[in-house]
Amino acid sequence: MEIDGFRGQLITADHTDYDSARAVWNGAVDRRPRLIARCSGTADVAAAVRFARDHNLEIAVRGGGHNVAGTAVCDEGIVIDLSAMRAVWVDPAGPTARVQGGALWGDVDHETQAHGLATTGGIVGHTGVAGLTLGGGIGWLMRKHGLTVDNLLGADVVTADGSIVQASADEHPDLFWALRGGGGNFGVVTSFRFALHPVGPTVLAGPLLWDASDIGQVLRFYRDFVRDAPDELGTVVRLGTAPPLAVVPEDLHWRPVVMVGTCYAGPIEDGEEVLRPLRASGSPLLDLVAPTPYVSHQSAIDSTVLHGWHYYWKSTHLPELRDDLIDVIAEHAFSCSSPRSYAVMFHLGGAVNRVPEGDTAFGNRHASHAITLDGVWRPGEDFADQDTAWARGFFAALDRFREGVYVNFLGADEDTHRVREAYGDAVYDRLMNVKTKYDPDNAFHHNQNIRPG
Ligand SMILES: Cc1cc2nc3c(=O)[nH]c(=O)nc-3n(C[C@H](O)[C@H](O)[C@H](O)COP(=O)(O)OP(=O)(O)OC[C@H]3O[C@@H](n4cnc5c(N)ncnc54)[C@H](O)[C@@H]3O)c2cc1C
Repeated sequence: MEIDGFRGQLITADHTDYDSARAVWNGAVDRRPRLIARCSGTADVAAAVRFARDHNLEIAVRGGGHNVAGTAVCDEGIVIDLSAMRAVWVDPAGPTARVQGGALWGDVDHETQAHGLATTGGIVGHTGVAGLTLGGGIGWLMRKHGLTVDNLLGADVVTADGSIVQASADEHPDLFWALRGGGGNFGVVTSFRFALHPVGPTVLAGPLLWDASDIGQVLRFYRDFVRDAPDELGTVVRLGTAPPLAVVPEDLHWRPVVMVGTCYAGPIEDGEEVLRPLRASGSPLLDLVAPTPYVSHQSAIDSTVLHGWHYYWKSTHLPELRDDLIDVIAEHAFSCSSPRSYAVMFHLGGAVNRVPEGDTAFGNRHASHAITLDGVWRPGEDFADQDTAWARGFFAALDRFREGVYVNFLGADEDTHRVREAYGDAVYDRLMNVKTKYDPDNAFHHNQNIRPG
């Protein structure tokens, strides 16, 4: 198979790289595209889109390949694969960064931190920039510097007819608005331009661990503590077993724990002051909060969510942690079977909810927390049924507290109404109008799909 004007690599089922090229982060996803077009640049992406449209092929677009629903690959059709496009250029004077559409957050942090700069990115280094950004982008820095989309200044986009356009506040502003939360529905982004901020390079960061039996007490304290926390403080609660990382003493490995991860994006001394009450609360089993290179903190948990394991997620946004909500979380959090399964809860607020709803396409900015309930097991392990049921049961128990959802945390088996839930009616309807203008045939539908009107 050949594509006119294509200079990258074309991979079909007879190629030795086919199986590795079609594999995504979630090992439970097993799809067999007819062609994987590994692009070397924007011109290749445009050629691949035109080829797919001319031959009536299904299109999937791959950035970092990290989406739990596996939308980066399709059966039969073509995968427009940007994994060879990972360059990052920093302009310290801006300060801004230009990032290619196949880059991972580890690539961005590596280059930007060389200048003591950063923008809000995901908390796992091997997550793709493209999918994460297009869905919104939450991370340690969001309360201080906003979501990833709040830092997006512009994007180069190949649209459904193969044209190359620039989207920014001044050019194609409707498309630019939709790209900031609306996912991969509107075209293939070949590069992003982000605003950067001085961060670190050393920050006060790290996890605190308490025994699982202390969950009620820890979460009640945590609720009151984060209510007035400064924007500089990002926290993420992880409920599961302590991972067998080198920094965790061996006697704690696999012990069920409440872990509160922290990152203070400001002066270390201020962070010490702010975090003192949390560190003194109850009887932590372990306190690893310390001055840490931001770039190391960003990759600290990479090995706990490896490529090729099997993952099943349910997710929802939550309000502030009322006592009855804490009781539900405490009842379900530790009843999964696999030692690798966990629940993880991001504290939102700060700069995230100061941007008016509708200014970007990211919905539900008012929520306090985003939680994912993650069943995780290795290939061949027998936890699939039990931990899928655990995630579903936990999600059902949270039903009366739910306040929308983050589109990037939706799994493969969700009802289509959950995509609308991620945006709310007003934003969803506006996204539908932009979709109708830029992709009226819904060529880009292997995603959390917004259908054209
Ligand atoms: C372990 C783990 C940790 C995570 N942590 C965070 C976190 O801290 N914060 C957060 O916000 N999210 C997080 N996520 C969710 C993450 O945002 C999504 O999984 C996201 O889809 C990943 O982007 P990707 O490029 O790797 O995805 P892919 O699987 O490559 O793509 C997903 C979809 O995005 C679209 N897409 C991808 N690339 C492009 C492109 N270049 N142009 C247009 N559309 C494109 C396509 O529709 C594609 O189907 C995490 C996910 C995992 C698995």
